[in-house]
This record gives sequence, C-alpha cells and structure tokens, in this order.
Amino acid sequence: MNEAESSQDFLSDPVIIENYSILQETGIFRYIDRLKREIRKYKNLLAGAGDIFNRTNIDEIMDTAVWHISDQFLPSFVIFIWKPHQNRNDITIKCYKNYKIVDFSLDINTIAPLEPFFQRHREPLTYSRLAEKLSTGDAETAAVITALGNPGPELVIPVLGPSKLYGLILIGPKLLADTYTAPEQDFLWQLMSFVSQAIQNHIHYEHSVRDAKTGLFNYGFFFTRLNETISQSKRSGNPSSLIVIDVDKFKNFNDSFGHIAGDRALESIALVIKQSVRTGDVPSRFGGEEFTILLPNTGQEAAWIVAERVRLAIAGIRVPWDPPLPRVTVSLGLVAFGRDTELAADEILKRADEALYRSKKNGRNRSSIWGSPDPSPEIKEQPENGISQV
Ligand code: GH3
Ligand code: MG
Ligand code: MG
Repeated sequence: MNEAESSQDFLSDPVIIENYSILQETGIFRYIDRLKREIRKYKNLLAGAGDIFNRTNIDEIMDTAVWHISDQFLPSFVIFIWKPHQNRNDITIKCYKNYKIVDFSLDINTIAPLEPFFQRHREPLTYSRLAEKLSTGDAETAAVITALGNPGPELVIPVLGPSKLYGLILIGPKLLADTYTAPEQDFLWQLMSFVSQAIQNHIHYEHSVRDAKTGLFNYGFFFTRLNETISQSKRSGNPSSLIVIDVDKFKNFNDSFGHIAGDRALESIALVIKQSVRTGDVPSRFGGEEFTILLPNTGQEAAWIVAERVRLAIAGIRVPWDPPLPRVTVSLGLVAFGRDTELAADEILKRADEALYRSKKNGRNRSSIWGSPDPSPEIKEQPENGISQV
C-alpha cells in the first residue's frame, strides 16, 4: 500500500469522520502533513544518496549532486573545491553558475589557512556564522574568509578526511528568494555530507591505486590489471602488449644534480607517459626509475608506435630546474601476448625485461621487442645529457 492510499484509508475511517472537528482542533492533521513532508524529504535524500554513491568519478558525483539540488532549490552557484593529491600543492575547482559549468579560480593559499579552522569545526556552516566565528578568533583566517566571500557563498560545507581538509563545497544564495530556511539548510547539509563522503571515498580509492610521487598507477594496481588483461586476451584472442621503461644512467643523474632534481625528472617523465597513452591504457610506476605501460587490446605494431612516441617525447623534455638540467633518456622493452601464449604475468614481465636489457646493451635511448628484430626507429635522437652512456 502506498502513502496516498494509506492516508486515504485513514481519512475515510468512520471514527475519524465522526470526530473530525475535534481531531482538527488538536492539530493532528497539520502534524500528519508535517510528517509527510519529512518523509518526502528523507525519501529524496535517500534517492540522492543512492545516486551519489553509485557514481564512479568525482565529476559525476558533483553533477549528480547539483542535479538533485536543482530539483528543489535554485542556488545561484555551487562551487566544489578539493585537493586531489594530499602531497601536492594543487587544488581542483568545479563551479556551476545557474547550473552551467563556468571557469572559477582560487589560489591554494586562500584555502590552506582554513585547514586548522575546519579541523576544529567539522560541521557545515552558514557563511555569516563562519565569518562571525572567525572574526572572534584568528584575524588572518577571517581575512581569508573575506576573500572566499567574493562569490558570496551562503553555505560552506567542509569535505573532511580522517586527518585533513580535502576540500570545501560553497553554495551561493538562492536565485529567487532570500535565504535558505532551516529545513532547507538541513536537507542541503545532509545531501552534501553524502557528497563529501563520496568524494572522500573516491580520493581514498585513488590514493590506494596511485603512486604518490608521480600520480601514475602503482605496482599493485598494475599487476592486477596485467593479470586481468592476460585472461581477457586469452578469452578474446585479441593481443595485448606490455612496455617496460627504465631511465638511462639515472644514478649518475642523481649523483650529479641531486635527488630532488631527480624527482622532478621522474615527475616530468610520468607526465609525458600519461599524456602519450589513451584512456583504457594503464601507465604505472613499477618502482624506482622504472615505469610500465599496459596496452590492452593492442598488438605489437601499434605498441611499438606508442613505445617510440614515448621515448622521443621523453628525450625532448626540459625538466624545469635552475640551472637547466641535461636531457634524460629512457630505454624500453616491449612484449605482445595473446591467446596462443600460456604465459603467467611474471613470465610476460620477464620477457619485457629481456627486451629492455637488449635496449640497454645496444646503447640505451631505444626500444626493443621481445623475440623479434626491431623495426627501424622513426627518428633516432642523440641524447645530450652529457652523461656517459657506457
Ligand atoms: P641504467 O641505464 O643501466 O638503468 O643505469 P641506472 O643508473 O639508471 O641504473 P641503476 O639501477 O644503477 O640506478 C637506478 C637509480 O635510480 C638509482 C636510484 O638512486 C635512482 N632512483 C630510483 N628511484 C628514485 C626516486 O624515486 N627518486 C630519485 N631521485 N632517484 C631514484
Ligand atoms: Mg632500473
Ligand atoms: Mg635506470
């Protein structure tokens, strides 16, 4: 029986009809209406939460949240700000103005000082309450809030991890009315606490599969995907490929320019690798100065083109550093696998390593294919890293 049917039955009960005016005087019908509104609110909230937790990336989480809000309110803007990498100083911002995504930028320095404040005040706040709290305490943080106030949020909801402020959700004033009523604030806060939790879950998941230094996938994720790709290639008969990459003479680089410069070089290499592959490929940091690219449903010829593209792009990197650093080069090993090979992940890795070893032996800054002579490289660039390639 649905809600409408049950209330219909209740209202047509002869005892109720007989005592209608007495019951009305008690205010019970208004009370029932209020309860019905509450039930509707919680149903909406549960529907929103279910929808939000079903999303597989942060963008979708935000789109879904804004869609659910727009069902009931018309906030002039909703801004999501979060730190995707806890160890790096960058923030990501998505701003919806009148439900359209618009550019909005905010300096990391505006957000950073809010962290200690939200560690102490973990609950969502109205903007005026936030400004009031801050002005009684730390003047510097109050000034930051004034800066945050530029678009004039009315509600500020922190996205808090176990030990860190992951981000903020700022909700602007309503387009058509003055302020949010207390039940509306309540609804928004509860919905946004689900959004906050869903974003946190996603950030935690990302941390568990990514390498902290380079942002590429980590060894654990790579190895799982390698096993999946082997099974899938065996089933479908479509070949897949694995490329392993090792930085040339990197010990010398560190010894000459220091480990911090070495880290910057690894970050630049990782970025180039990430930019050189398609969605669905798995670029990973295997460990140290070694990387892998898993290419599902990609045969040897196509993988060779990827390997050479990556090699040449890395040889062209200028690592931002003062004084300028010499160029770094990499050696690559490639192996393709498919239905006819009954190899386990370790054996495939071993073959890719053997191909890599051939690249090193033949002079570095080159790619080799396991079990076959290498096609001619497109362009052979001379490394100018000033480091002996012996
Ligand atoms: P090859 O061309 O034969 O690969 O020579 P290589 O010097 O690169 O090889 P080796 O294995 O001797 O040295 C690897 C170096 O990579 C040693 C280590 O200090 C450096 N390395 C590994 N991980 C990191 C890292 O995270 N940061 C920095 N800066 N260096 C790293
Ligand atoms: Mg190595
Ligand atoms: Mg090396």
